[in-house]
Amino acid sequence: MSLGPHGKWFLLAAICDIAIRLGAGHAAAQTGGSQAEAQQPAAHHFCITYHLASGSEKWDPAVRKRITDAMDAAIVLYNEEGEFNKTITANYSPKTRTADGGFSGWINLGHSISKRVALHEIAHTLGVGTHWKWSKLVKDHKWTGEHALAQLREFDGPNAVLHADRMHFWPYGLNYDREGGPENFRRHVKMVAAMRLDMGIVNGR
Ligand SMILES: [Zn+2]
Repeated sequence: MSLGPHGKWFLLAAICDIAIRLGAGHAAAQTGGSQAEAQQPAAHHFCITYHLASGSEKWDPAVRKRITDAMDAAIVLYNEEGEFNKTITANYSPKTRTADGGFSGWINLGHSISKRVALHEIAHTLGVGTHWKWSKLVKDHKWTGEHALAQLREFDGPNAVLHADRMHFWPYGLNYDREGGPENFRRHVKMVAAMRLDMGIVNGR
């Protein structure tokens, strides 16, 4: 099946909607809720969805495929490992040296296109280095929020230090290609979720 860029978006949105309905049905079954209640989307379930920027039909098809492959893989992982409420626009920006992402949900992908880069830029759309509370939680180049620190120490032991600067955090910030690998990717999403908790933006924009 061949899907155009907008078809892809609707497909992802449909999967998200199914996840919402399954979640609602599960919750209703657990509480003995009626079928009518099961039809209602669960108010607490959120997904990330994305679409390609307008004009994407004119992009080099090979580049468009690399972008959709990277974004699909990254979005699936975020939705599997966490619950985030965001609509993202992925743009191909050949003049962008690497890539960038903002809290508005806009991502520019330029010379760096990969799952690792997509995960990293999505983190920026979710508040990493971009939310106004970010800098308030960074002191002496360390993250001071309790949730992210607890999450890191679950991974790396009680003495682990969570480093952060104006825009980034590490470890698990996926700032470089050498930080790849499924377990690092999974931990990255968990860290982003915990940092959002610290910033008080869980399930918000
Ligand atoms: Zn970055």
